[in-house]
Amino acid sequence: KRLILIGPPGSGKGTQSPLIKDEYCLCHLATGDMLRAAVAAKTPLGVKAKEAMDKGELVSDDLVVGIIDEAMKKPSCQNGFILDGFPRTVVQAQKLDEMLEKKGTKVDKVLNFAIDDAILEERITGRWIHPSSGRSYHTKFAPPKVPGVDDVTGEPLIQRKDDTAEVLKSRLEAFHRQTEPVIDYYYKKGIVANLHAEKPPKEVMAEVQKALS
Ligand code: ADP
Ligand code: ADP
Ligand code: ADP
Repeated sequence: KRLILIGPPGSGKGTQSPLIKDEYCLCHLATGDMLRAAVAAKTPLGVKAKEAMDKGELVSDDLVVGIIDEAMKKPSCQNGFILDGFPRTVVQAQKLDEMLEKKGTKVDKVLNFAIDDAILEERITGRWIHPSSGRSYHTKFAPPKVPGVDDVTGEPLIQRKDDTAEVLKSRLEAFHRQTEPVIDYYYKKGIVANLHAEKPPKEVMAEVQKALS
């Protein structure tokens, strides 16, 4: 399967991705995770992306299209993929379509993590992540076994620099202005499934399974 996950920051894309990935044997490509790794490693890509990310604005289309194009060549993506956080603009969606057309494939389903903005601040400000795996926890909704420590590796968890109430405002603005039109782009193709992303994770997963069956 070739899937796209679209939803505002904190809507649960990163939480559902590993579950979907394992169930359908797909690779998980999260542009946010890849960009954060590039920023941490201070690669040329990371240096270019950092300023926009810190402000909660989108990184340029050319940069992210480049990393997705490269990442999709991985052998683990041959069986299909989950794009998490990409495409975020209509231009990115068009570029993705062109990329897939060349390979003779197309997107099968777009999962729309529909949720009210009001719920997101608490989710975002309570989020803790394990940077190298992308696993996320929440102080209230999904606490790790030991506070500040990853359950699987025992390594420390961190809070993202952009996970503040203030930067969230810019990220939501970018979502409504630049990413919501992407949902309409795929509505016209008839491949969008709407999820009730405000529900508990297990119920969201059940909706995902129904949408993909
Ligand atoms: P969220 O958890 O808010 O959905 P991500 O981890 O997906 O956030 O993205 C973090 C930041 O990385 C974004 O605010 C943006 O600056 C940048 N980014 C990630 N994916 C893209 C993309 N497809 N296009 C442009 N910028 C992106
Ligand atoms: P996204 O990848 O869309 O930005 P995450 O999956 O990282 O979102 O979720 C944001 C925060 O909310 C995390 O701390 C996560 O543990 C928590 N969370 C995710 N899904 C739910 C849910 N269905 N109900 C409550 N909290 C959730
Ligand atoms: P439900 O899943 O409860 O049956 P809907 O499928 O009617 O709900 O809609 C879920 C979300 O998707 C709503 O936020 C709605 O605004 C949005 N939506 C529905 N149809 C469209 C469309 N054609 N274009 C853009 N957004 C839509």
